[in-house]
Amino acid sequence: MSLFSAVELAPRDPILGLNEQYAADQNPNKVNLGVGVYFDENGKLPLLQCVQAAEKKLMDTPKPRGYLPIDGIAAYDDAVKKLVFGADAAVYKDGRIATVQGLGGTGGLKIAADFLKRLNPGAKVLISDPSWENHRALFSQAGFEVDTYRYYNASTRALDFDGMLADLKAAAPGTIAVLHACCHNPTGYDITAAQWDQVIAVVKERQLSPILDMAYQGFAHGIAEDGAVVGKFVASGLDFFVATSFSKSFSLYGERVGALSVVCSTKEEAAKVLSQLKIMIRTNYSNPPTHGGAVVALVLDDPALRQQWEEELSHMRNRIKQMRAKLVDGLKAAGVKQDMSFITTQIGMFSYSGLSKDQMVRLRNEFGVYGTDSGRMCVAALNDKNIDYVCQSIAKVV
Ligand code: PMP
Repeated sequence: MSLFSAVELAPRDPILGLNEQYAADQNPNKVNLGVGVYFDENGKLPLLQCVQAAEKKLMDTPKPRGYLPIDGIAAYDDAVKKLVFGADAAVYKDGRIATVQGLGGTGGLKIAADFLKRLNPGAKVLISDPSWENHRALFSQAGFEVDTYRYYNASTRALDFDGMLADLKAAAPGTIAVLHACCHNPTGYDITAAQWDQVIAVVKERQLSPILDMAYQGFAHGIAEDGAVVGKFVASGLDFFVATSFSKSFSLYGERVGALSVVCSTKEEAAKVLSQLKIMIRTNYSNPPTHGGAVVALVLDDPALRQQWEEELSHMRNRIKQMRAKLVDGLKAAGVKQDMSFITTQIGMFSYSGLSKDQMVRLRNEFGVYGTDSGRMCVAALNDKNIDYVCQSIAKVV
């Protein structure tokens, strides 16, 4: 018997597994709409101009690569606070936010999960139904029981907001509620500002522990507009978590740049929370890597680079919106009879197409068009060269 004879083969990651299948596909027309990555009009992963300029600047005065502090680059953490909460916000000025650099948004969520597991070991986690595939896995691996709150009604192809509110209302105090700040993954449906007010009221009344997962700030309506929900939570007086990712907004997927911010009632509490977050990090990966954080901090703090970033981000946002409109028109032109206009009311990188698992499998096997089994397609991977083929392929399976 070997040391590992009891180890079972784990299933492939549902999304990254699709990538592997795509890479092996010989179909010359293949299109990857599976993974949540923004591709430009030429189907290429962009390297943003602001990132290139920042990297040039950093190279002008090369720095040795010592260990970073456990919580990351101080200027980076500060820039994240200002971006997410506002430089003029009292909560920022009062020192009530504990922010740590994380390994992408995923890393930020994991630090939150590990911290909460020690703070409130018996708590249950509620994620939206459906949610980003990794939410359930991540919180389960951290030792939590994970359940869902209603969010999307497949039969009406719309939000089930009453269900969401009812499920949050029924949750026990201390329950951890994972909420998508904007650009809900996978459905593309966000709740309105007025609905957020209702959610916040329930979170407060039921004394839930809210985590805002903000992986797509700037991809819905704009940086400030998408961040408004954070301001609402602050105004409500709640303590809460925000997991930030710069993977998409800076197209820095592989650099693993993100953060976790914890809004606390007092400056003293924030200092204590920060000290605990640092233990989670120290015992996991010790301290974060230098490069991505340095790039993002430089871009966010330098007025010219910052403006360039905002323009590049708004270009990505607008291109996705154009592709949504073209998808609706293209599907109609390809002969799809059903009304697909819901695609333009969805927002962010994804569209929940409403296609069944069988249809998605056919799309993949017969046409080389890759989306998830749930029917999720990444609109940000569409371009003028592949959209007609995608529309015609969809028309053949519906
Ligand atoms: N949360 C959600 C909802 C996401 O869609 C993603 C990225 N797919 C993440 C978190 C994690 O992002 P990162 O790649 O920065 O870890």
